[in-house]
Amino acid sequence: MSTFARNWQHAVVTGGAGFVGSHLCSALLAAGTAVTCVDDFSTGRRENVAPLLRHPGFTLLEANVSEPFDVDRPPDLVLHFASPASPADYLRLPLHTLDAGSLGTRHALELAHRAGARFLLASTSEVYGDPRQHPQNERYWGNVNPVGPRSVYDEAKRFAEALSTAQAETYGTDVGIVRLFNTYGPRMRGHDGRAVPTFVRQALAGEPLTVTGDGRQTRSLCYVDDTVRGVLAAAGHGLRGPVNIGNPVEVTMLELARLVIRLAGSRSEIRYIERPTDDPAVRCPDITLARDKLQWEPRITAEDGLRRTIEWFRATAAEGAGAAAP
Ligand code: NAD
Repeated sequence: MSTFARNWQHAVVTGGAGFVGSHLCSALLAAGTAVTCVDDFSTGRRENVAPLLRHPGFTLLEANVSEPFDVDRPPDLVLHFASPASPADYLRLPLHTLDAGSLGTRHALELAHRAGARFLLASTSEVYGDPRQHPQNERYWGNVNPVGPRSVYDEAKRFAEALSTAQAETYGTDVGIVRLFNTYGPRMRGHDGRAVPTFVRQALAGEPLTVTGDGRQTRSLCYVDDTVRGVLAAAGHGLRGPVNIGNPVEVTMLELARLVIRLAGSRSEIRYIERPTDDPAVRCPDITLARDKLQWEPRITAEDGLRRTIEWFRATAAEGAGAAAP
């Protein structure tokens, strides 16, 4: 695959039992890379990695990255994805989230440094806060309330970027930073509070879709396969970044809710509820840098990605598996 510009032998994926992390583990294994997944299951799910446990190249290390940890053989790639990511999770786990971004990043960086491995930090569009520049390019410094409720996530990721940069400057560690924008797809939890799984769960249950505010706030939604391809392109390229990985096609929350209803063939209605504090009004990546340096851009349309996601939620609900469970 062209995105694997390097032939990795052994990758450590922290947060590998989570939504994005588990897709990364699968993609790496499929490309012949051995994978050690380090996860404490604080927000991840065992079902996400259960099929991988049968793969001879896959190792699961159950550990909290905010405490020192080691793996049984040196990696040549460390993908640091361990962190609660949905607002519902990080508001429930504020100190855990700050620790994962600070201590967890420190430990993952130390592992990469000891092994001489490439290190890639999963940062986020949340570093831009409620942006005053639209769309957001990587030179924009952001507008974050340091004591607002979302700060535990936003500031943890901003600190993680600073730490990764300082580590690269001080020790010469091969560091890359990807700023992921909203990603969606199979293996999200129906109750994780993010818009796509919430709408899909509600539409399939015939419940009203809860749109916050007037629904005119926008997000740009990237299907997980596109995100994984972008992350692996950034890992293989050797770029320090930060580099935005996201889909520049913007949708309002109201448009998204209507699209999910249509694609799910649902009769659900729309119900307006209060908008959370510090919820960004707009969010859209400028992906010029990723296009130029990584030759990456998303390929999967919202309709196609949402169809696949709805199918997965329908299938796991039919199996009685946990997508719909809290
Ligand atoms: P997720 O909650 O599904 O996955 C996070 C994983 O990290 C879980 O398996 C969880 O158990 C694990 N984890 C959390 N704290 C840990 C700790 N201290 N030690 C070990 N494991 C720990 O979230 P996700 O959506 O897959 O996000 C993964 C990463 O990507 C996060 O770092 C997130 O900030 C970043 N990101 C995701 C999105 C998105 O839209 N999904 C957008 C921007 C950035």
